[in-house]
Amino acid sequence: MTQRTQFRAECAHCGRDHAVRGVRMVAHGYKVPTGWHQFVGTCAGTDRPHFGTVEGREYRAAIAQAFRDLATRLALTVASILDGTVSGATSGTWR
Ligand SMILES: [Zn+2]
Repeated sequence: MTQRTQFRAECAHCGRDHAVRGVRMVAHGYKVPTGWHQFVGTCAGTDRPHFGTVEGREYRAAIAQAFRDLATRLALTVASILDGTVSGATSGTWR
């Protein structure tokens, strides 16, 4: 009887432990809806280096920075709405 060893690591995107192939995360986080015949909702960390690598930590740091930037923009937008300098969305953008 052959015993397979599955190597696992923390995904730099979702933070969960999943299988790796080399230093890269295998596909995870997906569902295969009945009749669909393909993965739906695969984690964005798939095929990226796991968190235990320098590249994986840099990837997670970039995600964190993107969320900080988004939070800053949203806070500015909310402040503008509250102080009345924004009158509403036209053509999909706030003015
Ligand atoms: Zn993931």
